[in-house]
Amino acid sequence: MYSRRLDRLPPYLFARIDEMKSKKQQEGVDVIDLGVGDPDLPSPPHVVDALCKAAKDPVNHHYPSYAGLPVFRSAAADWYKKRFGVSLDGESEVISLMGSKDGIAHFNEAFVNPGDYVLCPSPGYPVYQTSTLFSEGSVYAMPLKTENKFIPVLSDIPSEVAKKAKVIFVNYPNNPTSAIVTSGFYKELVDFASDYNIVVVSDNPYSEISFDGYKAPSFLETSGAMEVGVEMHSLSKTYNMTGWRIGMACGNSDILEGLGRVKSNVDSGVFNAVQIAGAAALSGPQDCVREACSIYKERRDALVNGLSELGFKTEPPKATFYVWLPVKNSIGFAASLLEKAGIVATPGVGFGSAGEGYVRFAITRTKERILEAVERMKGISI
Ligand SMILES: *Cc1c(COP(=O)(O)O)cnc(C)c1O
Repeated sequence: MYSRRLDRLPPYLFARIDEMKSKKQQEGVDVIDLGVGDPDLPSPPHVVDALCKAAKDPVNHHYPSYAGLPVFRSAAADWYKKRFGVSLDGESEVISLMGSKDGIAHFNEAFVNPGDYVLCPSPGYPVYQTSTLFSEGSVYAMPLKTENKFIPVLSDIPSEVAKKAKVIFVNYPNNPTSAIVTSGFYKELVDFASDYNIVVVSDNPYSEISFDGYKAPSFLETSGAMEVGVEMHSLSKTYNMTGWRIGMACGNSDILEGLGRVKSNVDSGVFNAVQIAGAAALSGPQDCVREACSIYKERRDALVNGLSELGFKTEPPKATFYVWLPVKNSIGFAASLLEKAGIVATPGVGFGSAGEGYVRFAITRTKERILEAVERMKGISI
């Protein structure tokens, strides 16, 4: 009944984990879910107010414009200028997205012909791969290895593959490894992309979630980046707005036009009231972002220190709300965490075969729950 395209999708490990979690809950276990990357903190009140006000204005009840409201796009451009020193033209170098997942999922349709390669990090956000399969391209997995600080080695990509590649996805600060970009990598990426004529997509939803004085760069700061690529950005993680579905793609106008042409045929844009509230988030006070980071930092320290006392060593991440813990067998470890301790963590292999040997904890639960999870982990071996 289903298409070959659907049959090609890898089994969805996350759905399986959900099933196992519900089964435990039905048995009466108080499950601590450190699996999902969805902030538990509320969206900022001033942004909620802006939405309520805009939702009451009938002028906003119609179909939005395809590329997005000027007020949202110029707020995004101003934010890029203020935050990264990157100048963008709100008219041609920014489009609104229903979250960055929307931009990623539809991107390849604009650039990839059947048989073309798409270079995807492994482990990585699964949508890079599904988007490639839907566009009937071939995934070339770039392994993110511990010894390379989870940065792909571009010179390891065979030149026959690079010549047939149309798109490369990168994501720093990284989900699931929590790695940050190393200096010089983006410049190397620009050179590689221009040598082989490959479009770069920098997926950057975690740029604002960082600790210990670290500030994540934008790919678009790199000289030459605007010629070869775009960056997907999202309000989901920065402002605890995952349910609102708003983000933006910024960068090269010809590339954005390709994505825009696909999107104008499959969706009708983001609800105007949500875009107005999104503009309020980007241009309003940013204390909420700093507060969220200090909460995540406390949780990170609670988890990393707790794990360390139990003999599980891992570096405290400088960014993202994930802790990526080396273990012997990722599915086995995650299964025993759930069985013996009632804790959900995501096996690294769920993000691609190179994620084997790790589990991912999302610190999107209170510090108290995280401390309780650590307590319950006593006695579990790697
Ligand atoms: C959460 C996440 C996204 C999607 O975010 P939305 O804007 O909510 O669609 C994209 N990429 C990565 C790596 C993520 O972790």
